[in-house]
Amino acid sequence: MAKCKQCGTDCQGRGALFKHMWHEHPKEAREQALQHLKPTNEQKVHPPEQEVLVRAIQQELEVIEQLYEDELDRLKNEYAEKLATQEAQLREEIALLELQIAQKDQQLSELNERIKEAHILLSQEQRRTPEPSKKKRWWEFWKRG
Ligand SMILES: [Zn+2]
Repeated sequence: MAKCKQCGTDCQGRGALFKHMWHEHPKEAREQALQHLKPTNEQKVHPPEQEVLVRAIQQELEVIEQLYEDELDRLKNEYAEKLATQEAQLREEIALLELQIAQKDQQLSELNERIKEAHILLSQEQRRTPEPSKKKRWWEFWKRG
């Protein structure tokens, strides 16, 4: 955790504080950055202005890079969250479909049982009443059975 010296906001890490500073207190952030750029005593003798400028630009580039990195991290997290919720939804749908399939399987096996029972009943019924074709016709009196 890093605390903002300007408003006391708690920031998660130096990167977040950096971003917070440049978003909320750009003036102070700039001053701080320039503080770092102040030449040391040795350099004060002949402060090469161009070198200071180059350093300032480098510093700004670093700030921009940091901001982009933070933004990229934020987008990555957002995307990961979205994927996670989508995955959870898909899992729920699949679970529901599996349940429906199991129910249909159950219905099918029940139907199968009933068809089997119907076949048994039918064959029993057929045994009780002889088929007309098997009946002896009057002109087949010489045949047995
Ligand atoms: Zn602040």
